[in-house]
Amino acid sequence: MIDENKKYEKECTIEMKVQNPTCTKKGQKDYTASVLFNGETFKDTISEEIEATGHDWNKGWKSDYLSNSIYRECILCGDRETAKNPFTDVSDNAYYVPIVWAYHTKLTTGVNENTFAGNRSCTRGQVVTFLWRIVGQPEPKMTKNPFKDVSESSPFYKAILWASENGITTGTAKDKFSPSATCTRGQVVTFLWRMAGKPEPKTTKNPFKDVSESSPFYKAILWASENEITSGTGSGFKPSATCTRAQVVTFLYRYDIDYLINLSNSSANFK
Ligand SMILES: [Zn+2]
Repeated sequence: MIDENKKYEKECTIEMKVQNPTCTKKGQKDYTASVLFNGETFKDTISEEIEATGHDWNKGWKSDYLSNSIYRECILCGDRETAKNPFTDVSDNAYYVPIVWAYHTKLTTGVNENTFAGNRSCTRGQVVTFLWRIVGQPEPKMTKNPFKDVSESSPFYKAILWASENGITTGTAKDKFSPSATCTRGQVVTFLWRMAGKPEPKTTKNPFKDVSESSPFYKAILWASENEITSGTGSGFKPSATCTRAQVVTFLYRYDIDYLINLSNSSANFK
């Protein structure tokens, strides 16, 4: 019985213990209240969960040529995740890494959920859209559309305007872009070269018998070759051949990995 006239000794303390969460495991906060009353201690604990922090893939996807894989690493715990290949028609061949990279960096999707269709040809509208995505989909500054065959409702609209104002494409005629025309290998490499600011190739030795010095693509192809963006097709460069989806993505992958990253922030002309 408590005697209301008596002065009791009493003391109350609250203690908190924290177990920090990790990337994948929840943490916990335990609050323990201790009450000392009349020489006796009473304790009670309540706990609060702390959500796992989740991995931080800050650096994004990287490629590993040796194991032919695309992976990313958590900067907090070092866990490694290998990118999965969602396409049943993409196997372990030369295009595997570029295609899986392009999919995971959201540069392209497949033609449906599990088909990439690497042998299909690419249109000019599609190629310009890939280029636009690789630099982060900048808003075009141009408000007047110079092309009669590109409507504002086209999925390629912003990409084409951006490419036009940055001199990456000049169109196929004064007021025509021909977004549905197929894109040749020479054209794709030329788009990339212009995007890089038309650098003068350092090499004077032309490795391709089927590319003449008078070709409008000459400098672009030499530049792409010396920067290992292309090594040709075995028997030459085939500048007039239609560029397939797998080839476009491979050019972009090598441009991004070997060229764009090396340039780091020194070339800002396409931003
Ligand atoms: Zn982690």
